[in-house]
Amino acid sequence: ALMITDECINCDVCEPECPNNAISQGEEIYVIDPDLCTQCVGHYDEPQCQQVCPVDCIPLDPTHEETQDQLHQKYLRISGKA
Ligand code: SF4
Ligand code: SF4
Repeated sequence: ALMITDECINCDVCEPECPNNAISQGEEIYVIDPDLCTQCVGHYDEPQCQQVCPVDCIPLDPTHEETQDQLHQKYLRISGKA
C-alpha cells in the first residue's frame, strides 16, 4: 500500500482518482486505507494518486510492503472476483 505524508496540502485531487476508494479526508490530511490500496494493481500500470499529487507526498508505506502477487490477490478480494 501507499501512504500520504504530512506534506499533504489537502488539495483533494487524488481522492477521486483512486479506483478502490482507498483515499479519504482524515482529521488533518488525506489518508489511504491500506486494506483497500492495491497500488492500483488490477486497474492501472501506475499508482494514479502519485500521478496527480502536486506535492509528491504519496510514497510506499514501509509498514505495508506487499508483493505484486499479494496486491493482485487484494484486488481480486475487494473487487469480488475471488
Ligand atoms: Fe488508490 Fe491506487 Fe493510490 Fe492506492 S495507489 S491509494 S489504489 S490510487
Ligand atoms: Fe494531499 Fe497529494 Fe492528495 Fe492533494 S493529491 S490531497 S496533496 S495526497
